[in-house]
Amino acid sequence: MKKTNSDYIDPARDRDLYSGLIRLHILHHAVESPIFGLGMLEELARHGYRISPGTLYPLLHGLEKKGYLSAKERRDGKSLRKVYRATPLGRKALAAARIKVRELIGELMEGK
Ligand SMILES: [Zn+2]
Repeated sequence: MKKTNSDYIDPARDRDLYSGLIRLHILHHAVESPIFGLGMLEELARHGYRISPGTLYPLLHGLEKKGYLSAKERRDGKSLRKVYRATPLGRKALAAARIKVRELIGELMEGK
């Protein structure tokens, strides 16, 4: 049987590999401006992460519980929407992660 690229890329299997990247991505955007679930799903999809609301919302709650994000309800027409921002702790954690990510990128791209 001929191997195709999709034999190697299985989003469900590889999810754990990317979960930290997705968290950092969320934190990065929450530092820049307030974020909400649907907007973040679209942003992540733009980067090739196709995750469901059922995956994203627990992730956001987890980041909130750890103190990286704070959440506020905001009225949007008739519905209430939960908006997240990075806390000072979230900003610090992202700044520390930035150094590690830079190092990793350096290694990953070595000789590329
Ligand atoms: Zn992004």
